[in-house]
Amino acid sequence: MKYIQEFNDPDLARRLLEDIHATATRPWAMMEVCGGQTHSIIRHGIDQLLPDTVELIHGPGCPVCVTPLEVIDKALEIASRPGVVFCSFGDMLRVPGTDRDLFRVRGEGGDVRVVYSPLDALDIARRNPDRQVVFFGIGFETTAPANAMTVHQARRQGLRNFSLLVSHVRVPPAIEAIMDAPECRVQAFLAAGHVCSVMGTTEYPSLAERYRVPIVVTGFEPLDILEGVRRVVRQLERGEHRVENAYPRAVRAEGNPGALRMIEEVFEVSDRAWRGIGTIPRSGWRLAEAYRDFDAEYRFDVTGVRTRESALCRSGEVLQGLIKPNECEAFGTTCTPRTPLGATMVSSEGACAAYYLYRRLAAAPAPAAPEEASIVG
Ligand code: SF4
Repeated sequence: MKYIQEFNDPDLARRLLEDIHATATRPWAMMEVCGGQTHSIIRHGIDQLLPDTVELIHGPGCPVCVTPLEVIDKALEIASRPGVVFCSFGDMLRVPGTDRDLFRVRGEGGDVRVVYSPLDALDIARRNPDRQVVFFGIGFETTAPANAMTVHQARRQGLRNFSLLVSHVRVPPAIEAIMDAPECRVQAFLAAGHVCSVMGTTEYPSLAERYRVPIVVTGFEPLDILEGVRRVVRQLERGEHRVENAYPRAVRAEGNPGALRMIEEVFEVSDRAWRGIGTIPRSGWRLAEAYRDFDAEYRFDVTGVRTRESALCRSGEVLQGLIKPNECEAFGTTCTPRTPLGATMVSSEGACAAYYLYRRLAAAPAPAAPEEASIVG
């Protein structure tokens, strides 16, 4: 508890807020990349405590939310096949595909199991040699090392009945896509601390330089976020655009060398589709040629999948920070956590779910316009 209470201290929070209020003299808009940070911000009302001129734009950093509909539909198709055990983390089960979700597949007789680690799925494969066991390997750089290690072990152990349905995405290309969008209002980033604990910070200086945006590596507790915002505002006011690490208790510049080696061994960089956003070049990983036998998309023929998104869902705009969830007409009416139309209403890291859970039911007044000169260099 010591480390949790330490980063929830109200006196320190007050002092950080005073500093931000005293420093911010102009309108600024920054994006928190990670869905975990979005939840912390909304849960603690951090955005409401900041000066009116400082806007937090919620980014696309919820792994469940950005997993493309096509991959969800492929998961549903594979999980429906006889002889398959389909393993996944729990929050993927309610993500809507074109016409059903994994819960529905389970209700219709599919063997869909919730696991807490990809190694649990490997264990199921070992104990069921007559079944095909598939793990749904989604997420950002954070979950990639464990998935890579599991496939590596499957190959070492000669397990022929284990495969991975891969949908891994990478943060830096997403930052490029956000900054290159003509409607972009983002002037700085709070980078996701857990991603940087794996990858380090070496990919960020060139982005900060190219787009002239401060990038501050930030944690998830209220004080972490306030400190990240404080450092961003300070840089913006001074006209700086540096990479800073405000999460040194977890992040080193070089990242986690063992995890990086495992990713490099098992995955290769590929173009990747992001739900609601589209394909971003080099923004994902797929299994490298040497591990292709463990790729569920190759093992199962799921090429005929036809997808159809809800016409009402505006999660693509939410994920790009173009609207707040409560500006979507379906928010809280036809779309709720019990009847989600989009993945952002399902995931524990989804912005729509956060707004619903913490009762941000009405849209806030429009923020002050950011200074033109500071947008995209
Ligand atoms: S509130 Fe529902 S329908 Fe609207 S963007 Fe969010 S998930 Fe989609």
